Amino acid sequence: MSREELTKIILPEEKLPKFWYNVQADMPNPLAPGLNPKTLKPLTPSDLEPIFARELIMQEVSTERYIEIPEEVRELYKKYRPSPLYRARSLEKALDTPARIYYKYEGVSPVGSHKLNSALAQVYYNKKQGIKRITTETGAGQWGTALALACKLFGLEAMIYMVKVSYYQKPYRRSIMEVYGGRCVPSPSELTQSGRDVLAKNPDSPGTLAIAISEAVEEALKRDDTNYSLGSVLNHVCLHQTVIGQEVKMQLEMVDEYPDVVIGCCGGGSNFAGIAFPFIPDKLAGKKVRLVAVEPAACPTLTKGVFAYDYGDAAGLVPVTKMYTLGHNFTPSGIHAGGLRYHGESPLVSQLYHDGLLEAVAVKQNPTFEAALLFARHEGIVPAPESAHAVRVAVDEALRAKEEGVSRCIVFNLSGHGYLDLYSYDKYLAGETADIEFSDAELRESLKDLPQVPEEYR
Ligand SMILES: *Cc1c(COP(=O)(O)O)cnc(C)c1O
Repeated sequence: MSREELTKIILPEEKLPKFWYNVQADMPNPLAPGLNPKTLKPLTPSDLEPIFARELIMQEVSTERYIEIPEEVRELYKKYRPSPLYRARSLEKALDTPARIYYKYEGVSPVGSHKLNSALAQVYYNKKQGIKRITTETGAGQWGTALALACKLFGLEAMIYMVKVSYYQKPYRRSIMEVYGGRCVPSPSELTQSGRDVLAKNPDSPGTLAIAISEAVEEALKRDDTNYSLGSVLNHVCLHQTVIGQEVKMQLEMVDEYPDVVIGCCGGGSNFAGIAFPFIPDKLAGKKVRLVAVEPAACPTLTKGVFAYDYGDAAGLVPVTKMYTLGHNFTPSGIHAGGLRYHGESPLVSQLYHDGLLEAVAVKQNPTFEAALLFARHEGIVPAPESAHAVRVAVDEALRAKEEGVSRCIVFNLSGHGYLDLYSYDKYLAGETADIEFSDAELRESLKDLPQVPEEYR
């Protein structure tokens, strides 16, 4: 098929990948070891077994290049995968750019984002091991929604701690979690010691992902029938998301394309990893493809953070890992892209960025909404505020191609839709969204709390 004939590039169901791609097989430098948060000694599997399923722990440290997707998970993926790749023809016209813009649309999943790709896998392995309940955190609510549905499909209970500021900004996400049979409470809550400690110090805390993670982990540690599940950051989560990039590669091949640049928004790093990692082997083999992570200027982990060991949560219950971080006590301002308000970053994305295989840019909130509106008015889909960060940079790349007078192939991940984020769009349309400046003074303060790890791991 010629590239000019197709606008919607659809793979047949039998092309749904049978394996996840594990970038750990190909990294020039391996990950620094994860450390036990109490002893700061290298983690052992038994440190993780109280909260994670054994097969997920194995995936966390695996260096197998391809890991088979269980048939039960693949069958459920078929509810919405392979997801479409669209050519953004109307947007290209509006920008009058010679660039060809493609977007992979993960909003077709029943929960409206890429998060279900990992939720289904994680709940499956927990069920296989006899676990009955899963606790988790959620920011804007997409992960909680995905986990609630995955739990219902496999017959487990879901208990979700939702960052308080988002709980009140996005009440319909809570409704959906409850429709799927999950329980959702605002965090910090009175239900856990971690939550009570935060509330004692600051009764008006808007919450952070780091606090919500502590609450969920604390509950999982207390109960044998309960495990914890994380929606991003960890190696196995990035692994599960690689169905996205593998499909994109096949879809681009169908129209005889290869990308010059691949773009994804970056919170904990999983949707970006999902679209970008399958291109890493090509890049290592000498292909000139740029892989660009986009983060909010209000929470600029890769572009302003330090590459250091830090805690993944506020109370120091989850492993200490080497990653780009703004400090686990950093409280990002209440920007509308709740899913991007995390102080840390996937260790895999961090290491590959450190090694120069990935690029990163930070964008401000108002230009991001501006690009989202432009996209919505030409392509029809209202992007999630998180995904809008990728839209912004795709538009910038297309405008640069126009300036330079070159035709480029630009691909970005539209990680989810924004139909439950209309409150945020209302605020933008009313001129009430701020371009909050990130403060270096605040960063210096929060970096004081990094754990003092032994010299040999630094
Ligand atoms: C959660 C979320 C993100 C951010 O998380 P990553 O792990 O960085 O992908 C981005 N987009 C959407 C739609 C999300 O739901």
